[in-house]
Amino acid sequence: MFFFVFGKITTLKKAKMRMLNQNDLLENLNKSGLDRRSFIKYLTAVGLLSMVNTQEAKAFSSNAKGKIVIVGGGAAGISMAARLKRWLKDPDITLIDPSDRQYYQPGFTLIASGVYEPGDVWKKQEDYIPKNVTWIKDSVAAIDPVANEITTRKSGKISYDFLVLTPGLQINWDKVEGITYNTLGQGNAHCIYDFNGAQKTWKAIQEFSKSGGRGIFTDTYTKHKCGGAPKKICLLTEHYTRRQKTRENVMLDFYTASHELYDVPYYTPRLLEIYDERNIPISINTKVKGVDTVKKQVYFEKTELHDNEKIVTPFREDYDFLHFTPPMSAPTFVRESGLGWTEGKFADENWVMVDKETMVHTKYSNIISLGDCSDLPTSKTSAAIRVQVPLAAKNLISLMEGKAPGEKYNGYAACPIVTDYGHVLLCEFDYAKKRESSFPFSLMDMSKESCLAWLLKVYILKPMFFYGMLRGKA
Ligand SMILES: Cc1cc2nc3c(=O)[nH]c(=O)nc-3n(C[C@H](O)[C@H](O)[C@H](O)COP(=O)(O)OP(=O)(O)OC[C@H]3O[C@@H](n4cnc5c(N)ncnc54)[C@H](O)[C@@H]3O)c2cc1C
Repeated sequence: MFFFVFGKITTLKKAKMRMLNQNDLLENLNKSGLDRRSFIKYLTAVGLLSMVNTQEAKAFSSNAKGKIVIVGGGAAGISMAARLKRWLKDPDITLIDPSDRQYYQPGFTLIASGVYEPGDVWKKQEDYIPKNVTWIKDSVAAIDPVANEITTRKSGKISYDFLVLTPGLQINWDKVEGITYNTLGQGNAHCIYDFNGAQKTWKAIQEFSKSGGRGIFTDTYTKHKCGGAPKKICLLTEHYTRRQKTRENVMLDFYTASHELYDVPYYTPRLLEIYDERNIPISINTKVKGVDTVKKQVYFEKTELHDNEKIVTPFREDYDFLHFTPPMSAPTFVRESGLGWTEGKFADENWVMVDKETMVHTKYSNIISLGDCSDLPTSKTSAAIRVQVPLAAKNLISLMEGKAPGEKYNGYAACPIVTDYGHVLLCEFDYAKKRESSFPFSLMDMSKESCLAWLLKVYILKPMFFYGMLRGKA
């Protein structure tokens, strides 16, 4: 792993990144106050840490037996398959997933800003299914957690002893009136939460920077994956227009359904300052109801409290370019199988109910769930999943051995908020929203954006994902 990452950096000259060439890289290094030697020292440390991780992964093993079925082979599911494969002797693992491709979704933001090419963010799924894991290339339609049985769309019923539930989340495009997945991009209404959508967004941002006008950016009222993504694409669009020398021709606004822009106190002040410095007004408590893609108008609802009474005010805004975020939930089959919330605050979103430390289902002790589909009260990111996986895998093995699950997840998540071409505010935190900096960043003031974090985001995290995490190593 270390040699791979090190090799990547030392051959940066060859990298064909349109937005950052080697001169930019060196300039960024200088600005960060890090000389080349210290930078390489940091990378060496990161590399050595991954090796330690790998050694630890090899050291643990168990003879536990039982049929494991993994539903969903994305970031969480494939990483779980790889870990369990390493730690169990002769495991019996079946993975159900219909997709041909394994996407590195954090790269969608970088496609939408022209930093990555579309081909940079995906690999063939077949290359990531661990050896001797049975892959059923199909979708799950239902789960009967009492009978321990799964119904697939085309491959009949499959039974299990232990279930790993990792089907990610469902994007509910139709919950934005006037939008469907098939019409995404019409009326210049875009969304980077989709691979094709990210590509359309990049084209549209380039056009918008030429034509000028009003750009509106929104998040949504449900929990959504990478809460930072809508903020990143807004800031990147702003910087892109500055680079094109057209900033004075565009007006940008950010609308959030939440009562604040960001809820991790260590990072929020600087993020607010950046929006202020860039002249991007933020409207809070404002959710998107619909989009009229013909008139190019967004319909909003603003909620305010007056004398303890909730007042909801509908209003419309014209736009020339729109980036919206659709509502999200657990997949429909999770709700129908009785594994998710059906009442309470997540009744509409149906996230799988798990113990927030052990990740074991609160009702069925042979089911473990992690990643985007779960109700773990932290940010839905692959950075969080990287930490969840080894703990969830060990807990599953304990259950298979008839023991109580002993590993506890503290809610660690990370969200690298790209603030411009060259800088990232690297937000790392736990369940208590306390700063949780990983080495070597714990040595630095990470309450501000840094170019080192940009280098991590653009050059290191993707190879770590494909060659470390998905192989059960990082
Ligand atoms: C625009 C964007 C930016 C992001 N930025 C970041 C970032 O900067 N940092 C970060 O850490 N994270 C980021 N993320 C979030 C990260 O990508 C997700 O949190 C992560 O991919 C979730 O992993 P998962 O395994 O839970 O779900 P996924 O990776 O989505 O995988 C779900 C899998 O389940 C399969 N599946 C779905 N339904 C079924 C079914 N019925 N039956 C069988 N299989 C099924 C799918 O085919 C898929 O393979 C970003 C995401 C997006 C979209």
